[in-house]
Amino acid sequence: MAALDDLLALCGEISDLGRARALLFWDERTQMPPRGAAARAEQLATLTRLRHRRLSSDALGRLLDSARTEVGDRDPDSFEASLVRVTRREWERARKVPADLRAEIARQGSIAERAWERAREASDFAAFRPHLERVVGLKRRYVECFDFEHPYDPLLDDYEPGMTTAEVRPLLERLRDGLVPLVAAIGERGGGADDACLHGEFPVAAQRRLAERVISDLPLEDGAWRLDETIHPFATGIAISDLRITTRFDPGYLGAALWAVIHEAGHAMYQNGLDPRLERTPLCRSASLGFDESQSRMWENWIGRGRAYLARMLPALGELFEQRLGSIDAEELYRAANVVRPSLIRMEADEVTYNLHIALRFELELRLFEDRLEVAELPDAWNALSREYLGVEVPDDRRGVLQDVHWAGGAFGYFPTYSLGNVIAGQLWAAMGADLGDLEARIAAGELETLRDWLGRRVYRHGGKLLPAELAARACGGPLDPEPLLGQLRAKFGEIYGL
Ligand code: ZN
Repeated sequence: MAALDDLLALCGEISDLGRARALLFWDERTQMPPRGAAARAEQLATLTRLRHRRLSSDALGRLLDSARTEVGDRDPDSFEASLVRVTRREWERARKVPADLRAEIARQGSIAERAWERAREASDFAAFRPHLERVVGLKRRYVECFDFEHPYDPLLDDYEPGMTTAEVRPLLERLRDGLVPLVAAIGERGGGADDACLHGEFPVAAQRRLAERVISDLPLEDGAWRLDETIHPFATGIAISDLRITTRFDPGYLGAALWAVIHEAGHAMYQNGLDPRLERTPLCRSASLGFDESQSRMWENWIGRGRAYLARMLPALGELFEQRLGSIDAEELYRAANVVRPSLIRMEADEVTYNLHIALRFELELRLFEDRLEVAELPDAWNALSREYLGVEVPDDRRGVLQDVHWAGGAFGYFPTYSLGNVIAGQLWAAMGADLGDLEARIAAGELETLRDWLGRRVYRHGGKLLPAELAARACGGPLDPEPLLGQLRAKFGEIYGL
């Protein structure tokens, strides 16, 4: 097994370089003093270059050829066959894009991100437009490096391996068409839910104690995580047992940190549940961003905003924030955690309207890459879709087309993964319920490990061995389908809002 051993050694180096880069990134966002920024940018660029050089090397190609012979007709699910198959896929993708195009996308992306910060501050789309036009132009060249049926396919494939526009588009359109009337009905009904109790004074020190306690009570390996503060919360894995969770505390609103912490811990639990044998290989990751997001959202929304979980949390909330929450009851907390309100900003959206923010971005990205829309027309198109899907009027570009950083950095194809995550979570929840019975009763009994173990067997342990469509078929028993999610949202919010 000489070639396989050499392949594992090279994959180990590639992985170490990637994880070291993740650690530097985590440090930059949580610990680094501001004046370290220039040196850090160089360090990150060096690690990226070294990693890419190995990943796209002729040497890796030769090792993959020999290792494939050694693997022979072993079971495709085996570690060895998966290693060769997935590494080859990454090697081929890395070689398809010329190094100078990659570098140019990274360079223009970081220039555009800085321009975006200033433009958003001033709500000035015209100032951002030439930067975005350059980024879109580069991404069109990027797309041309691949064979595709639809020009959006290579962009989607960066985040959802193997998934195509032809599959994702009807799925997300069905989700959108199911949600627009639900959101309109909730809006007409009004009342029903009110989150005033979560607003007010919530001292940061007490919020930090709550966050630590919330994570400790989740089924995440002891001694394998830490929590730090940042501006835009994220979670990253340095290793299966070295997970970095971050959050942001808003002293005037408890909800900002509370559910963000559960969300990020959901990402961490997925990493923590990977088969240890996958460490230091390209298999040591989630199946896709959509699958990753299915876990953060399942723990945040299906579990963390459910009646049973909140009822268990209530005593701790009353103890830490006696003045605000000392006398509320579990039903009040449940309703406060589940307010649905169409709004302008995606990052502040609830679990129902969130998908419509995504539908809007997905539709605009498709129009851009199908050459049906110019960058200059984005603000008008954005505002029209906000009216159509969410029923909101966008007062300025800062709260409209300029609100997200993704496009500045060239991350087209990323947004749909958020809604795919919700769709997958809905399917997994249904499948888990069919297997384990009443999930709320299990949560009420404190059996979170049982849920985690089911997810571990069905999803986590496979890591990146399977394409997301294959994993969906095995874990959920069928292809991706928005109906379970739609049914769950109609039932939950129909009850809360008396529809
Ligand atoms: Zn997430």
